[in-house]
Amino acid sequence: MDLKYFLIDLDGVLYNGGVAVEGAAHALQALRENGCKFQLVSNTSGKTTDAIKEKLNSMGFEVYERDIFLAAEAMVRFIKHKKSKAKCYLIGTLALEEAMKDAGLNVTRKEEPVDFVVVAHDNETTYNKMDIALRLLLKGAGFVGVHDLRFYPNETGVHITSGAFIKALEYSSGKPACIIGKPNPDFFKDAMRKMKAKREQTAMVGDDIFADIKGAQECGLKAIFVESGSYSRDDLARNNIKPDAILKSIKDLPAILG
Ligand SMILES: [Mg+2]
Repeated sequence: MDLKYFLIDLDGVLYNGGVAVEGAAHALQALRENGCKFQLVSNTSGKTTDAIKEKLNSMGFEVYERDIFLAAEAMVRFIKHKKSKAKCYLIGTLALEEAMKDAGLNVTRKEEPVDFVVVAHDNETTYNKMDIALRLLLKGAGFVGVHDLRFYPNETGVHITSGAFIKALEYSSGKPACIIGKPNPDFFKDAMRKMKAKREQTAMVGDDIFADIKGAQECGLKAIFVESGSYSRDDLARNNIKPDAILKSIKDLPAILG
């Protein structure tokens, strides 16, 4: 395959929870040595780019902040494009609040007039926070959701997250959210723009058959599925999703680049 640019997912591709996928750091190094470019892309909205970089570095990956593109960053760009100093009511982590403020957005946790309600991953989401968000939406605030995920797994089991809360607020307010992150085509396009990638030479490497594989193909990119994460070949067949390549893990990526 004539590929030069890669969008590479994090969880399930470079690591699982706190453990690096064997050979993944070496694979990234090999891509660089072959003159390829990559962006590490994730729908994560609970951590900052710096925290992700630190996590990767501590696992032996040589990556820099500029190599990482998160849905949180895409959300900030999206809102700033609409209104540069927008006031936002946030259901999300403190880390996300800081990132939004650093970018010049005005963030509140109180019930007061806002331009946007932003719902992202927050494991301290409460009835009261949801209640406030609903009332602000009904008063006309724009609705932005980060990461439309049903649940996420970690060492202690599966956990409810942003997708469920976004759906609840869509139902109660009757207002659809603008969802930021994979598989939204704008997310892939923003990440490609960041490394000046040519679409026909770009592949998404991911473990999520919907957000990564189907999403990338619908955006006109090649999609490389890795079996090191949440989904299996059976899931692909069951959902009639056909990646352009299937690898055991990202370790095998350099070998398929002619
Ligand atoms: Mg993943």
